[in-house]
Amino acid sequence: MADQWRTIIEPFRIKSVEPLHLTSQEQRERALERAGYNLFALQSDEVLIDLLTDSGTGAMSAEQWASMMRGDESYAGSASYERFRSAVHDLTGLPHVIPVHQGRAAERILFAETVKAGDVIPNNTHFDTTRANIEHDEGVALDLPCPEASDTQTPAPFKGNMDLGKLEDLLARPDINVPMVFLTVTNNSIGGQPVSMANIRAVREICDRYAVPLFIDAARFAENCWFVIEREDGYEESTPKEVAQELFSYADGATMSAKKDGLVNIGGFLAVKDDELAERCRALLILTEGFPTYGGLAGRDLEAIAQGLHEVLEPGYLRYRARTAAYLAEKCWEAGVPTVRPAGGHAVYLDAAAILPHIPREQFPAQALAVELYRLGGVRGVEVGSVMFGAAAQQELVRLALPRRVYTQSHIDYVIEVVTAAFHRRTSIRGFRIVDEPPFLRHFTARFAELV
Ligand SMILES: *Cc1c(COP(=O)(O)O)cnc(C)c1O
Repeated sequence: MADQWRTIIEPFRIKSVEPLHLTSQEQRERALERAGYNLFALQSDEVLIDLLTDSGTGAMSAEQWASMMRGDESYAGSASYERFRSAVHDLTGLPHVIPVHQGRAAERILFAETVKAGDVIPNNTHFDTTRANIEHDEGVALDLPCPEASDTQTPAPFKGNMDLGKLEDLLARPDINVPMVFLTVTNNSIGGQPVSMANIRAVREICDRYAVPLFIDAARFAENCWFVIEREDGYEESTPKEVAQELFSYADGATMSAKKDGLVNIGGFLAVKDDELAERCRALLILTEGFPTYGGLAGRDLEAIAQGLHEVLEPGYLRYRARTAAYLAEKCWEAGVPTVRPAGGHAVYLDAAAILPHIPREQFPAQALAVELYRLGGVRGVEVGSVMFGAAAQQELVRLALPRRVYTQSHIDYVIEVVTAAFHRRTSIRGFRIVDEPPFLRHFTARFAELV
């Protein structure tokens, strides 16, 4: 029955609405001047469609709100913790489930207990907070993406994979200590590209041979599982939950930002197999987050995550979720707008270097394109290029991240119209120079001036 229809609809209806703020181009122009052309400095009511991030920006379901009412706020031994623990355990099979207020808190606790100065932690690609927490403990965060990852224009099904040869070479070196291997699913930093189950299995085998534990950065595990079902032989008939359970079965532990595939606005967890490591992590948790049955969250937050982990694996939700990004990307291609291919699970990345060849890197083409999308239509994306990474930038991209269950198809159609309009007037878009910047993480607070 369902297969008869081609239209993939939003698998929800709306019970509570939040008004959008329409602004005139003149108001947006003034807002840009005030913000120093930095989109992070805009007020949210100056933005019409906010595609800055998919982190913590999703909409919760009626069942999640209902479960929050049941939240048990007991300091110790909360029933909400038990529901949360059982949901995470059911999914991951990992015996120790440690709640934290968000993903980076799990990273901070795990690495404090496992990383010594000079240790190397490989990953398909480290997320920036993962890298920063490893470096904080004087470890070396090493990216080992597969070779296809660097070619943004050729579609491949699993560009998020780890380079197995390089991993093996690293682990074979007697002079380097590797306390754990990490795999980030999906691979956020290279465009939300998935990792195949075959790759995960192969990484596990290599880890076994060298007796090194494997950890999963699970922020977008459900989106990764959906791509496995759609693209990998042998998984066509599997449910997302079955695929997720297989994925976690290869892991000795996981860190999770529930602000992504937990379908909540705040929360996360650290889950581990090793009893002794769990004890040490819980001791640090008490010091920095809270008692082990709440870990920096309210009982109601634990309820919402438990329910979110269930909903995120519904096939109808994941089909709609993957389709939203694919639809936005396809419409961009039809209009001639270059993007990273294929679309990721959570975002579409516009290729600003290809769109604005007349703007050299030193004049921040991706910043210029992001500003133009806001100026024309109130759409806020984020620059992922030379402003964010300085001279180390590999590409000049504008990321349009999709909050979960928030925008409808007509919102996406509007975004496509704005992107297309910006593309048509691309030759008149000008570059920027930085007039003021802080010493670190300049993309958050730098101020710019438009070049004439
Ligand atoms: C967001 C994210 C994190 C960090 O989680 P926070 O909840 O933002 O602290 C870690 N890894 C990946 C892949 C992420 O996307």
